[in-house]
Amino acid sequence: MTDLHTSPAPLIDIGVNLSNKRFEKDLEDVLKRAQKANVSQLILTGTSEEESDRVFKLTQKHANNFPNMLYSTCGVHPHDAKHFNSDTLNHLKALAENDSVVAIGETGLDFDRNFSSPTDQEKAFEAQLELAIELQLPVFMHERDAHQRQFEILKQYRDHLIDGVIHCFTGDKTALFNYLDIDLHIGVTGWVCDERRGQQLQRLVNNIPLHRLMLETDSPYLTPRTIKPKPKGGRNEPAFLPWVLDGIAEHRNESALEVAEKTTAAAKTFFRID
Ligand SMILES: [Zn+2]
Repeated sequence: MTDLHTSPAPLIDIGVNLSNKRFEKDLEDVLKRAQKANVSQLILTGTSEEESDRVFKLTQKHANNFPNMLYSTCGVHPHDAKHFNSDTLNHLKALAENDSVVAIGETGLDFDRNFSSPTDQEKAFEAQLELAIELQLPVFMHERDAHQRQFEILKQYRDHLIDGVIHCFTGDKTALFNYLDIDLHIGVTGWVCDERRGQQLQRLVNNIPLHRLMLETDSPYLTPRTIKPKPKGGRNEPAFLPWVLDGIAEHRNESALEVAEKTTAAAKTFFRID
């Protein structure tokens, strides 16, 4: 096991795929390690109808042993947009009634791989934005190679949306500034620790006001490349969020403590949790 690296202040991991098979066998241990690393709250990402159910059930199952630690989102990822219909919408709406469901999403546009057609993606995205407005919940968003269109759509809804985050931001300066212009939050993952793919993000990260910045691992994906030695099997987990914190602090020239305190405050306000 990689040595534990502990955050100087409690952190919130705003994007964790805990329903992934790779966490099936040792989820309790994963949660305990997160606590030891001072990662005190996790927002489990719902990526489809099924996954939204699964992550909600996980938050319920572990609520007694890990009080006030687990929350979830419910939504349909753009890859899955072709399956989105009116039943889906009702299902998400019912799930979102639960107090532990704190955002709509993951939704958005992904024109990189187009696993669903752009038309289906836009329909599902707009339906979920409307749901978020109706329920007055923030939106957890994905975007790949679709900034122009996503920004256009978001501008139409922004006045009525309470809050939105572009999770795992890896876009360029124009995209970042456009999203910030319409008062969105930005989620940063271990990309910021990647000396090859992450260079653009490393240069841009100091443009994000701390009250709009939130941290995420996107576990089990995107293991920070700064972790030495590399974790066994390459699986990322919430306990590794302090490496993301350090990457951000380094490239902003700020202390890890300040970044931890302010981004955690931002996440609490964003998701309306204590
Ligand atoms: Zn995503």
